[in-house]
Amino acid sequence: MGDELGDIDLDEFRQEARRLVEWVADYLAHVERYPVLSRVRPGAIREAMPKSAPASPEPLARILDDVATTVMPGVTHWNHPGFFAYFPSSASAPGILGEILAAGLNVNGMLWKTSPAATEMELTVLDWLRQMLGLPEGLFGVIQDTASASTLVALAAAREAVPGLDARRRGLVGQARLRMYASVEAHSSIEKAGIVLGIGQDGCRRIPADSRFRMDVEALGRAIAEDRAAGFTPFAVTASIGTTSSTSIDPVREIAGICAREGLWLHADAAYGGSAALDPSLRQVLDGCDRADSLVVNPHKWMFVPLDLSVLYTRKPEVVRAAFSLLPDYLRTAEETAVPNLMDYGVSLGRRFRALKLWMVLRAFGHEGLAARIREHVRLAQAFRGWVESDARFEIMAPTPFSTVCFRGRFTTRAPGEQDEANQRLMDDVNGTGEIYISHTRLAGRLTLRLAVGNLRTQERHVRRAWELIQQEAARLGA
Ligand code: PLP
Repeated sequence: MGDELGDIDLDEFRQEARRLVEWVADYLAHVERYPVLSRVRPGAIREAMPKSAPASPEPLARILDDVATTVMPGVTHWNHPGFFAYFPSSASAPGILGEILAAGLNVNGMLWKTSPAATEMELTVLDWLRQMLGLPEGLFGVIQDTASASTLVALAAAREAVPGLDARRRGLVGQARLRMYASVEAHSSIEKAGIVLGIGQDGCRRIPADSRFRMDVEALGRAIAEDRAAGFTPFAVTASIGTTSSTSIDPVREIAGICAREGLWLHADAAYGGSAALDPSLRQVLDGCDRADSLVVNPHKWMFVPLDLSVLYTRKPEVVRAAFSLLPDYLRTAEETAVPNLMDYGVSLGRRFRALKLWMVLRAFGHEGLAARIREHVRLAQAFRGWVESDARFEIMAPTPFSTVCFRGRFTTRAPGEQDEANQRLMDDVNGTGEIYISHTRLAGRLTLRLAVGNLRTQERHVRRAWELIQQEAARLGA
């Protein structure tokens, strides 16, 4: 059998890989040339692509040449320094190298045996990260793809810990009606976990928040008591450290007290906010999290690790394992009592070697380098907040504990009912310039604009430019 049935010729690979690395480096160096938000109309990329795959081989060079015409018009540039929407996620150079290496090695770390380095590096770098975040010793960390998956796994463990339920074996049909709690400001992934775990959306009780968008702890206590009286079984509370809309921080320590008293699992969603604790001067954001049963933090958000990589820490790995471990004969190994098999701590069996990119990032920047970048992003956000505060045409909509500023224009020339519309227009117009991308939310019923600083390449001049554009557009719209 000839070589033509194997892989593409490695010399061709070598040549195109070199060209591609050059291309990516140029892209990162000049990403500001592109409009940050893609301007493509819906369906255009599909229309431009052939309806079926080629029957005969095409050279790699030709395929890669098509990236410019087929892919790039439809890319929204998360690596652009003007990306201030949602929570930024940026790919650092060491993170990209980690991805290349992971693809090249292509190991499946489902079992320790199927690639010992994948399991042992994962356990090691997650322990490094735990120390860097000031989290307590003894936490077990495992990588998941996203925070949604981390939270699903954590809440599945919480469900497993309900005495006498044995949901993994018996299912939930006809069994106790479970209840879990999170604030009205908590991320939708918690409710999604409820859907998947058979708790249902009705089983995810939303607790009111105070005027600073933090969970109202007294309301939590009352809700639990009401639910018990009505025959429900409360089992978990999710506290947020950096809610998605306003980045508020729930009173974790007080919530932990309630969880301890009531025998509930405490899950901490620090998907965005947790990264702030890399800076020792911001460590207090995780106050109380030492009492959480599980905690999620996303290096793919504000730690410059390319998508996707989320970390789930838990004090009770044996419960997570009890919720997920299944050992058919073909997955048994001689080492299973000596070392963990990470397939036992999540939904998927196959596991990418994601730890490599985190290892590269932690080493290439070092703890001090990462902390300095986080600190600078917080400084830039605080500066932006100061500019907004000093301009009477705008109002601040929430506290800024991290690097996300919530604000909106005051359009005095417009009727009160048209304020939302005018702010939407303001956002669409500044995004239409192609220089920046900001996003919106709703706080206290009012459309709110969010500017989140978190991109690795964002500098002060980008934040100043964002403010200039926002001021110009607001003036044009009659703020
Ligand atoms: N939790 C919070 C607080 C978030 O802001 C987000 C996403 O922005 C998530 C969870 C979900 O993250 P992922 O996209 O990793 O599932």
